[in-house]
Amino acid sequence: MWDHDPILAVPRPVIVLADAYRRAGSTTRFSIFQNLTALISAVDVGWLTHGSGSGEMLHYLHPALLPLAVETRIDEVVILDDIVQAVVLGSGLAEGDGKDLAALERVRRASSSIVRDARFGRNVIAAYAGLCAMCGLDVGLVQGAHIYPASAPNSPDETWNGLALCPTHHVAFDRHLVGVLPYDGSIHYHDKLLSQRALSPAVRSLIDGTYQSLAVPTRPGLRPRRDMFDLRYAHFHGEYDWLSV
Ligand SMILES: [Zn+2]
Repeated sequence: MWDHDPILAVPRPVIVLADAYRRAGSTTRFSIFQNLTALISAVDVGWLTHGSGSGEMLHYLHPALLPLAVETRIDEVVILDDIVQAVVLGSGLAEGDGKDLAALERVRRASSSIVRDARFGRNVIAAYAGLCAMCGLDVGLVQGAHIYPASAPNSPDETWNGLALCPTHHVAFDRHLVGVLPYDGSIHYHDKLLSQRALSPAVRSLIDGTYQSLAVPTRPGLRPRRDMFDLRYAHFHGEYDWLSV
């Protein structure tokens, strides 16, 4: 959709990606039917996935996000629309004519960190066979969590700096409510959780459903490294006083 469209008032162009392989060998015209609502909505949100009537997934995007779209395909990682839409909204890319250099630079940096996170998450989840390292939950709900956090200086995106965790254990880990002893992988709880155990059946079931120690990948080279926990506890100095590390 381009900015000289004679029918629609389009403030910014939108690129549509379709699967060329679906059309390989086709003897008819190479055409892709667009959903008008999706197109117009993509102008505002900057990044949108929409299933066509024939079941094909079409991707609508701001031209500045083309590198991100290409990288996600090369790496075969899946990124949820709302993650990229939040970047578009936060960068100001969807305002004005879309040629704001500062906004483009913000999008470029955010895009590379999105791909980096997605690649890390995919590798960690695969190493743990899709199971939470703290409770074994699967059904596709598991996420890759950094031990030495991604926001810290020189945090490696290696599988040995990651844990596959279900959303509950991920948040509990991020908020320092659950800790792991580096030398034996045993799992421990902050007093905030332990004090609620007798009062809250939900907290009791969370603690009772958690392993006593981490379930780690079978391949030694993929297992969480002890020094990553040491770096984590040093980085979050004061947050783990309750854990005797
Ligand atoms: Zn879990």
